[in-house]
Amino acid sequence: MPEFESVIGLETHIQLNTQTKIFCGCKADSWEDLPNTNICPVCTGLPGVLPTLNNAVVTKAVLLALAVQVDSVQPKSYFARKNYFYPDLPKGYQISQYDEPLALGGFIDLPLPDGSVRRVTIEKLHLEEDAGKTVRQVGERWIDFNRCGVPLLEMVTGPDLRTADEAAQYLIRLRQLLRWLGISDADMERGQLRCDANVSIRPVGSDDLNTKTEIKNVNSIENVRSAIEAEIKRQIREVQSGGRIEAWTLDWDEDKSTLHKMRSKESEADYRYFREPDLLPVLIDQDWLEQMRDALPELPLERKERFIETYALPEYDSEILTEERTLSEYFERTVQAFIGDPKVVSNWMMNDLLRLIRERGTTAGKLIIQPEHLAELIAMVEAKTITASTGKELLDKVEHSGLTPEAIVKAEGLGQVSDEGKLRSLAVEIIETNPDQVATYTGGKTTILGWFVGQMMKETRGKANAQLVQKIFRELLEKS
Ligand SMILES: [Zn+2]
Repeated sequence: MPEFESVIGLETHIQLNTQTKIFCGCKADSWEDLPNTNICPVCTGLPGVLPTLNNAVVTKAVLLALAVQVDSVQPKSYFARKNYFYPDLPKGYQISQYDEPLALGGFIDLPLPDGSVRRVTIEKLHLEEDAGKTVRQVGERWIDFNRCGVPLLEMVTGPDLRTADEAAQYLIRLRQLLRWLGISDADMERGQLRCDANVSIRPVGSDDLNTKTEIKNVNSIENVRSAIEAEIKRQIREVQSGGRIEAWTLDWDEDKSTLHKMRSKESEADYRYFREPDLLPVLIDQDWLEQMRDALPELPLERKERFIETYALPEYDSEILTEERTLSEYFERTVQAFIGDPKVVSNWMMNDLLRLIRERGTTAGKLIIQPEHLAELIAMVEAKTITASTGKELLDKVEHSGLTPEAIVKAEGLGQVSDEGKLRSLAVEIIETNPDQVATYTGGKTTILGWFVGQMMKETRGKANAQLVQKIFRELLEKS
C-alpha cells in the first residue's frame, strides 16, 4: 500500500467591515438586530431597483490584495449573476464576480514548525454579496434577509496545503492579517470569516491532482482542522478498500464531529453565469492604486523580523508581540519611552500586560494604561523605587484609576523601603522576639534566613528592599 499525502485548498469568504452593504445603504453588520429589520428593496431584490457599488468595499478589498502581493489588481473587473434557487436568495441570483475578478495571483507565507516556509498561492480574489439565512425549526423554516447584500471578499488558494494543521495555520495567519489591516473583524463564530476546504489525496511523490471533495459550513479553526482530518482518513480508507472518491460536497456536523454528504457538487454550468447588466465595470485608477500601495502598513511578518533585529528580541517574544497590530505598536512606544533593555519591556508585556488585556477582554490599543505609564512603572521597578510585586499591582491600579504610576505610588506610600536604619531596627525586633529561630540559625541551619526575610516582608507589607534585608539579617545573626 502506498503512503498518501493530502492536497488541500481553501476558499475563504471574508466579511468586510464596511458601514453599509455592498449595493445599498443598509447597515452591513446586523449581528445583533432582529430578523428582517435591516433590509430594503435593493437587498431583497424587489422589482425595479438598481444596485450601486459601495466604494469602501473596493478599497478594503484592494488593501488585502496588495498585502498578499497579488500579481495584478485588474484595471477592469466585472460583476456577474450567479443563478440558483434557494429560499434565502430573494433575487434568484447572487451578484458575484466570475471570469473577470478584482485581483489575480498572490501568496501568503506560512512559517512551519521545522523552520521552513510554506508558500500558499492565491488564485484570485473576488467580490460578491452574501445571501440571507435560513433558520430551521421543527416542521418550519424561517428566512432572515438581514445578511442579504453584506459585502464578501472570496479568496481562493491553490492546492498548496498538505495537512489539516497547515490549513488551520493558514486561517490563523489570514485572520491576523485581516484584523491587522482593519478590513474585517474576522470572527468565525459570527460568520465574518467562513471557510470551505477542498480535499484530495495522492500517493506521496505524485504530482497528480485527484478528485476532490468540498467541506462546507465549518465555523471555527478547530473544526476546520477536525473536519479535514476526518475527510483525509475517510478518503484513504475508501481508496485502500478499492473504492473511488467522488466529487461530493460535505457538511461538517459540529456536535457529532462527523461529515455528511450534502449533494453531488454543481458544475459551473448549473449557475448560468452572465454579466450583471445593472452594474458598470469596476475601474481601478492606477494613481489611486499606487497611493494605496504607499499607505499599506508594515505587515506582521516584516514587523516580527524587524523587532528581532532592532531590539534583539528572541523570536518567541517577537512572534507574540506582533500577533496583533496595536500590541506591536504598544511595545514600540513603551520601548521609546523607557531607557533600558527592550527585553525588560517585552517581559512585562508578555507576562503582565497580556494578562491584563485578557482579563479585560480588550486589545492593547484600548487599554487605559498608556505605553508611557508602563515605561514609567518599569523604570521604577528597575530603579528599585518599588518592588516587582508592587509593580504588578500598580499596573492594575493605573488601568482602573487612570492615574499615573508615580501619583499612585506617592498617594498610597507604595515606595520600596530602602532606609537601612529603619530596616535594621525592625530586624533587631524580629530577632529579639524569635529566639528559637535564631538558635536554629546559629546552630548551623542558615537556610532559615529566608524565614527572617519573610517576617520583614510581612511587617513592611512587601515593600522592603529584599536584598538589603538579607544583608542586614545575615550581619545581625552572625553576631548573635
Ligand atoms: Zn438594503
